[in-house]
Amino acid sequence: MAADAFRLEGKVAVVTGGSQGIGRGASLALAAAGAAVAVTNVPAKREDIDEVVEQIVNAGGAAKGYDLDVSESAGVRPVFDAIAADLGGVDILVNNAGVRRNAPAADLTEADWDFVLGVNLRGAFFCAQAAVAYMREGGRIINIASQLAVTGVPGRTPYIASKGGLVAMTRALAVEWVPLGVTVNAVGPGPTATPMTANTTPEAEAALLARSPLGRRLEVSEIVGTIVFLASAEAGAVTGQHLLVDGGWTAS
Ligand code: NAD
Repeated sequence: MAADAFRLEGKVAVVTGGSQGIGRGASLALAAAGAAVAVTNVPAKREDIDEVVEQIVNAGGAAKGYDLDVSESAGVRPVFDAIAADLGGVDILVNNAGVRRNAPAADLTEADWDFVLGVNLRGAFFCAQAAVAYMREGGRIINIASQLAVTGVPGRTPYIASKGGLVAMTRALAVEWVPLGVTVNAVGPGPTATPMTANTTPEAEAALLARSPLGRRLEVSEIVGTIVFLASAEAGAVTGQHLLVDGGWTAS
């Protein structure tokens, strides 16, 4: 294995929800590894997008920001077309955009269900479909799933269903796109300190940490190395997998 085995020079990476939390970390890490990064997020996050792009460019990297709401399926393909035209293709997609609606299953509405599944699962599919149209041999799709794809906790049914579906979809696309030379994998973070989890109630936080062998939230910096690995040439034989980075949650 060469010393520069994990370098991504010459690659174009797209990160959905790429200006905040794990997505922000992924955008910065992929750029640091040498990829040109399309930092995308919903239009309301434009300031965050611009800040991340500026940070990458100031560090000597290449990046461009795009508005992309993954739940608006009709708008997905034109954004990937623009990215490919601007940056010279699409080699890596990180399907990171994610939302949750926590409530007892008995109280969930159809709107709650559609909102969560529409971003976390349907959105990820249509981004993968738009990205693969541009991918050549060596293409990489990395879906950000969760330790909750394979374990249950109360009050999170749509989120858990979306992440379980995302892992199943990862396997399906991995097998279908082997002939293209494109790998499709998922990363399953455990509880990680991000804006998504910042408003967790003290009771829920205590229960979560008691459940985790690590006894603390993971940092974004502990997740992104796995994303860069899966994006690299070294991971060419890894496909259809859900790599859990969960501090031992699923081992206990
Ligand atoms: P976050 O809320 O900080 O980031 C989520 C991002 O998704 C935000 O930038 C948000 O604007 C974006 N987003 C929401 N709806 C979107 C849409 N319709 N189109 C495009 N972007 C949209 O949360 P995070 O913790 O950084 O989560 C990132 C991913 O990691 C999510 O898929 C989440 O489910 C997953 N995850 C997080 C944890 C955790 O504990 N933080 C654990 C496991 C998995």
